Amino acid sequence: MVKSIKKASLPLIGSLHQFTEIDVVEVRERLLKWYDANHRVLPWRSIAAIEPDRSKRAYAVLVSEIMLQQTQVSTVIGYFDTWMKKWPTVEDLASATLEEVNQIWAGLGYYSRARRLHEGAVKIVKELNGEFPNDRDSLIHQLPGVGRYSGSAVASIALGCAVGVVDGNVNRVLARVRGIGADINIQSTTEHMWSLADKIVDPERPGDFNQAIMELGATVCSPKTPACGSCPLRLHCVAYQKSENQQEKSSISSHFKKFSEKVTLSEISDIECLADCDLCLRKEDWDVSLGVQNYPRKAQKTQSRQESSAVIILRNKIDKMLLVQRPRTGLLANLWEFPSIALSENGAQDKDVTEELVSQFSLPHTAASSRTFVSDVIHIFSHIRQTYKVFLISLSGEKKLTWPSRYQGGQWMTKEEFLASATSTAMKKVFKSMEISEQKCTNKKKKLNNEDNSSEAKKQKTISHFFTAAPKKKIP
Ligand code: SF4
Ligand SMILES: [Zn+2]
Repeated sequence: MVKSIKKASLPLIGSLHQFTEIDVVEVRERLLKWYDANHRVLPWRSIAAIEPDRSKRAYAVLVSEIMLQQTQVSTVIGYFDTWMKKWPTVEDLASATLEEVNQIWAGLGYYSRARRLHEGAVKIVKELNGEFPNDRDSLIHQLPGVGRYSGSAVASIALGCAVGVVDGNVNRVLARVRGIGADINIQSTTEHMWSLADKIVDPERPGDFNQAIMELGATVCSPKTPACGSCPLRLHCVAYQKSENQQEKSSISSHFKKFSEKVTLSEISDIECLADCDLCLRKEDWDVSLGVQNYPRKAQKTQSRQESSAVIILRNKIDKMLLVQRPRTGLLANLWEFPSIALSENGAQDKDVTEELVSQFSLPHTAASSRTFVSDVIHIFSHIRQTYKVFLISLSGEKKLTWPSRYQGGQWMTKEEFLASATSTAMKKVFKSMEISEQKCTNKKKKLNNEDNSSEAKKQKTISHFFTAAPKKKIP
């Protein structure tokens, strides 16, 4: 009875999942030593290390952290450099327009991140006197789009606050090092990860320590190919020791089997925790073949939603394309895109869809019949698998620019203007599909022309051969 009350309020956690005082000292020392010798040189790290102005440091780290959410380091580097050249300070960013911000962000995806970054800059300049908030909590509470992770990263890396960070890499390292096999998405496990991160962070070098543990997760303790042999935390790692024990058990077991002798596996030492600990991996879930990769426990995948829409690339006689601007809020807010219309699930609207678009954009009725199908383009958003059915309509006459009220505006754009505008990766794929399709058409035409020319040449040869006088016989 007492136990069930305890379980309802607090998870039952064995000491296996905590750092001892000795662990704390040794893990800090080993990890920092490893980081000093192995870390990657990245532009935001250099700014955080040498920039004396705290607001400039905080701004650079914030930009990099927001860009790094959902995007790989290698992609972020180029975007970060361009961004910092254009807006080297928070004041510069605050004076930019959202349109400009979206243009520079174009291709990174999740555009709400860019909008919030811009809103945050405006707030710092207008309401906070150009000064960044001082610590993790104020960063989270005062800046839009700054959550627990990015607030902790900016506070520790740029401002020297002794707070831990938890992201996907840190979750993996901590789950393996402390043998945490509970679902990392449930609240009590998340809280435990944060308490471990706050405890283990080095108060003398919090920024370096946090970057070290993230770097270890990204480069050594990777999801599928962990390099335990070269890991500085091997001696503190429950997953590693457990996996080694299992291998030892299997080899002893097979050795004794060979000699027909009996061995009880429990006789070999194992890593024990509380009998009903809430953070342990359940015995029946341990997969010998996975080793340390049993941690962290895989979250159940949610199936992505399937959606499809028809997209029209409408091109006028001077080769410009019609782009419309999405609403100010919601998915892909403010971005430019080709006119589109959602298709119903069973595709019943498919055949009428261009007529619908033609009427929404007040195009001449002949336009619908002149459409050509380009191809299907598939793009995966976070939870949506979107299929675009791409059509091309080339207009021969003048077209007055109108658009339905669901869009903010419309504009005819050249290819170069389109590529430089704030548009999504999905729309760039749509455009590319048209270029590929047109290239194929041109190649086909060239091939046909070549074939025609060569058969014409053959024909000519045959005819000229007919009229050619027979060679004169030599008279001996
Ligand atoms: S020993 Fe292996 S599993 Fe443990 S932290 Fe290092 S790389 Fe990860
Ligand atoms: Zn346990």
